Amino acid sequence: MKQFKTESKKLLDLMINSIYTNREIFLRELISNASDAVDKLYFKSLTDSSITVSKDDLFITVSFDRDERTITVEDSGIGMTKAELEENLGTIAHSGSQQFKAENEEQQGKDVDIIGQFGVGFYSAFMVAKKVTVNTRAWGADESWSWTSDGIEGYSIKKGKKETHGTQIVLELKDNTEEEDFDLFLSEPQLKSLIKRYSNYVRYPIKMECQKSVEMPKPEDAGDDYQPQYETVTEVETINSMIPIWKRRKSEVSQEEYDEFYKSDFHDYANPLRTISIHAEGTLAYDALLFIPSHAPYDLYSKDYKKGLALYTSNVLIMEKCEELLPDYFNFVRGVVDSQDLTLNISRETLQHNGQLRAIAQKLEKKIKSDLLKMLEDDREAYENFFKDFGRGIKYGIYSSYGMDADKLSDLLLFYSATEKKMVTLAEYLEKAAEDQKSIFYAVGESVDRLAKMPIVKSVMNKGYDVLLCTEDVDEFCLMAMNSFDERPLKNVAGGDLDLETEDEKEAAEAITKENESLFTAMAEALDGAVKRVAVSTRLSETPAAVTTEGPISLEMERMMAMGPDGERIKADRVLELNPQHPIFEVLKKAQEAGDSEKVSLYSTILYNQALIVENMPIDDPVAYAQAVTSLME
Ligand code: ADP
Ligand code: MG
Repeated sequence: MKQFKTESKKLLDLMINSIYTNREIFLRELISNASDAVDKLYFKSLTDSSITVSKDDLFITVSFDRDERTITVEDSGIGMTKAELEENLGTIAHSGSQQFKAENEEQQGKDVDIIGQFGVGFYSAFMVAKKVTVNTRAWGADESWSWTSDGIEGYSIKKGKKETHGTQIVLELKDNTEEEDFDLFLSEPQLKSLIKRYSNYVRYPIKMECQKSVEMPKPEDAGDDYQPQYETVTEVETINSMIPIWKRRKSEVSQEEYDEFYKSDFHDYANPLRTISIHAEGTLAYDALLFIPSHAPYDLYSKDYKKGLALYTSNVLIMEKCEELLPDYFNFVRGVVDSQDLTLNISRETLQHNGQLRAIAQKLEKKIKSDLLKMLEDDREAYENFFKDFGRGIKYGIYSSYGMDADKLSDLLLFYSATEKKMVTLAEYLEKAAEDQKSIFYAVGESVDRLAKMPIVKSVMNKGYDVLLCTEDVDEFCLMAMNSFDERPLKNVAGGDLDLETEDEKEAAEAITKENESLFTAMAEALDGAVKRVAVSTRLSETPAAVTTEGPISLEMERMMAMGPDGERIKADRVLELNPQHPIFEVLKKAQEAGDSEKVSLYSTILYNQALIVENMPIDDPVAYAQAVTSLME
């Protein structure tokens, strides 16, 4: 027996026990090697006229034997000579494939898309096998060789009996222990699913003998009560689909094919809303196929939802969900990225340089955004549906970045316009706005209908301004984080400083405030700290009073925070605004003049609570309010 070369023993131990986190990838590695071997033969046949191979003879087979507890992976590839066996499998971290690639690139100037590069994948077999036998015969050689190893001490090579070119690798599985069950790999469905998961797009057929139950022919003399009879037959099936659809140009693929791929690979029952196919060339070459689903998965807004795109290099799956490829606000996008240019970590489970990923992620983000904008322009209805399902995540993106991502995302937003009575973008809102409109107005509440009836909304609309009616909990946070759009401040109509009045109106209001200072103080006192102050309103037309707020916290926010899991009690600074044009104002003035403080107090309570009810805010003391109203009726 030959010892493994150099420090190989330690390295081997490290390999088998620490590099991989997931033992099932052994099959991916062996199939990748088989695919490389087939590729090499095919590549040689293209350049060497003495080699003739038919494409039909190029394939990989996987089989297993339950009794012997073996799994066999066989290819009809280029095989190995004795020297190559020594070099490639006797030296850990020697990659014959990498060498082949380098040599051929030099010779041909062609890019050979070979999977192997580190010279360690083969040894992953020892994660599951106690003994590995490699029977191999190099193309054109007249003898074959058999290599065996237990993966610990060394290996031995002797003459073999293989008749055809290619390599057969037989794994004798480790004994089961209490913690680890190796028998689970000895099953048709298990092997099939591993092949499909990791090696579905390997470009040569991966064949497996599969058991199938088929109906037996009906006997001629079968009576009326004949029950169909079944028998189990063995059939060779090709397990992998081979053609990576993302590598094909959009013009060559029908939408039906994309839809089928999306539904089967991403487990959706519905067709995708959009399909984005990208082929990037140059310093960082990659292919990507992205889908925007037509509906949100049920767990999209839950903590369990994991964003990410499947990452392949050279048709082999590296990561099922690579998170770095998508920003949170586009977490709904599904799809695949495939790049030969990624520097993989040696286990091929992660990447070495995230810079490459980041560069791809940035490009993808731009593409996604431009596709969404295109949809907004070309297919408004589809976009509105999209936004219903996914808009929340985009708004949340603006909020959670403290508005930093607003520039990137604000074009994608839609809000309900009170004037237009439909969803509009912020740009559309401004298009319809008057030249001199300084701000964008919005109102926040539970439903569009209710908001449209609110006096403070009406008062802004009466002045000729549109108001965006926002009903989603994240809306206000998003708009506050944005602060402005196209240099125009975004203003909640329930806030104090809307800056809507003319100079004259302002002066008039100030005069009335001065005149009635004692009344306002008395009212504020009567409300006992519920409001910060009582003031003259310049905007109310039909209603006698409204509750507005000063400062950053609005009533809607206060209400929402109270509903949250921690029930945070933050308070908005409330202002009771009075409409000086309303007859009630005269009544109040008279009561104050007459020194009827009881009446002032009673009316204050009623007006304040009424205003809260109109705004759909809970009132602090419903009993006191009811008593106050009742006392008026007596
Ligand atoms: P890598 O595939 O990264 O090069 P591996 O450890 O998986 O590393 O394989 C080491 C080398 O052994 C390969 O580069 C290749 O030269 C050789 N080899 C492995 N499996 C086969 C095979 N089925 N047929 C021919 N050569 C193989
Ligand atoms: Mg390999």
